[in-house]
Amino acid sequence: MPGLSKRITTLNAGGSDGWDLFYKAKRMIAEGIAVTELTIGEHDIRTDPAILEAMHAAAMDGHTGYSLIPGTPALRDRIAARVTERTGVPTTRDNVLVTPGGQAALFAAHMGVCDPGDTALFIDPHYATYPGTLRAAGAVPHAVATRPERAFLPDPEDVAAAARATGAVSLLINTPNNPTGAIYPRATLEGLARVAEAEDFWLISDEVYDTQIWEGRHLSPRALPGMAARTLVLGSMSKSHAMTGSRIGWIVGPESAIARFHDLSVNTTYGVPGYIQDAALFALEQGSALEACVAEPFRRRRALAQEILARQNAVGLIPSGGAMYLFLDIRSTGLSGEGFANALLDHHHIAVMPGESFGATAAGFVRVAMTIPDERFAEALHSLCRFAEGVARAA
Ligand code: PLP
Repeated sequence: MPGLSKRITTLNAGGSDGWDLFYKAKRMIAEGIAVTELTIGEHDIRTDPAILEAMHAAAMDGHTGYSLIPGTPALRDRIAARVTERTGVPTTRDNVLVTPGGQAALFAAHMGVCDPGDTALFIDPHYATYPGTLRAAGAVPHAVATRPERAFLPDPEDVAAAARATGAVSLLINTPNNPTGAIYPRATLEGLARVAEAEDFWLISDEVYDTQIWEGRHLSPRALPGMAARTLVLGSMSKSHAMTGSRIGWIVGPESAIARFHDLSVNTTYGVPGYIQDAALFALEQGSALEACVAEPFRRRRALAQEILARQNAVGLIPSGGAMYLFLDIRSTGLSGEGFANALLDHHHIAVMPGESFGATAAGFVRVAMTIPDERFAEALHSLCRFAEGVARAA
C-alpha cells in the first residue's frame, strides 16, 4: 500500500486519542458485562418524537435532494434571531453557516483562519477532539495550561504569553466547558478579548453547551465591544435538543468570513440534508421551553451529586456552573485519572473518563457524564466515592 499522509497519521500525535477507556467499556458491554456508562456526553433521552415527525414530513415532502449549502434561509434566519435574542448582537442569516454538527464547525473554523503551519491556541483541559481537529485543519495546536486551584479557568496573561511566543492566529475557548463545567466569568472573557485585540488573533468560541446553565450566566464573547469582528461562535443542536445523531450545528461570524466558509462547505461537506435542517428549524421554533426540558435531568442530577459529594472527603468537585458533566478531583487516592478510571471499571464496572483524556493539566481528575437515570446515577456516584475513600485510606 502506498503511504498515508502525515496529516492523517499524526492526527493523534502518536499517543492515545483519549478514548481507550471508552472502548474498553464498550468491549466489556459487548461481552455481556453490565457496565454503568458515564463516559460520553450522550443524553439518556432520545430526540423528541415531534422533531422526528417534522424530519419525516420534510423528507416525505421531497427535501431529500442536494440542500442549500450555507443552510436554508429559514434556518439561518432562525439561528440568527436566536443569537440576536440571546446576545443582543445584531445577527442576520449572512452571519450564519449551517454545518453537520459542532465538530464540523470546529474544523471549518480552523480551516478558515489558519494557514498550514500556523499556531492555533487552545485551553487545557479541553474537549478530546480539539488537538486532532486543529492538526486536521493543518494548524499547529498549542495548549495553554490552566490550574485546578483556579477551577481550570484560562489566565489571559498566560494566553498573551503563548500568543507572543508563537505568533498564534487563533484561540479556541469553550464555555460552558467540557470537561470542567466551568462558565467563564465576564472578567476572564474581557481579559481574553483584550489579548485577542492586542495580539490580533481570532477568538473561536465553542458554545455548544449554552443551554446547560446551572449557576450564573453564559456570556458569549462575541457580545463584548469590538469582538463581533474577530469572533467565530460554534453552535450545535446535539446537546441543546438531544440531536447528537442528526449532525447539525453552525458557525456565526462576520459576513465576509461566512461567505468564504461557504466555499469550504462546497468543497468538503456539501451542506446538511434538507430534512435535517427542516427538523432543526422546527426544534428551534419550539423556543427555550424544549431546551429547558432537555437540560432538566442534568440540573437535577448535579444537585443530587452536590449532596452526595458534600458528605465525604475523598473526592472533590471542581466548582462548575454548567454542562452535563462533573469534574472530580481524585488526587487524594494517589492514582492518576487513568489508573482510577481503569480500577473503577475493573472492580465496579463503572465507566468514567480519565482526566488525562482532556489534557495534561487534568491528570488526577475524572469526568463523570450525568447521563443515566437519577437513581442509578446516585448509586454509581456513591460507589465511586466509597471506592475513592478505600483507595485513599490504603494510600
Ligand atoms: N464541542 C464540545 C465542547 C463538545 O463537548 C462536543 C461534543 O461532545 C462538540 C463540540 C461536538 O459536538 P457535535 O459535533 O455533536 O455538535
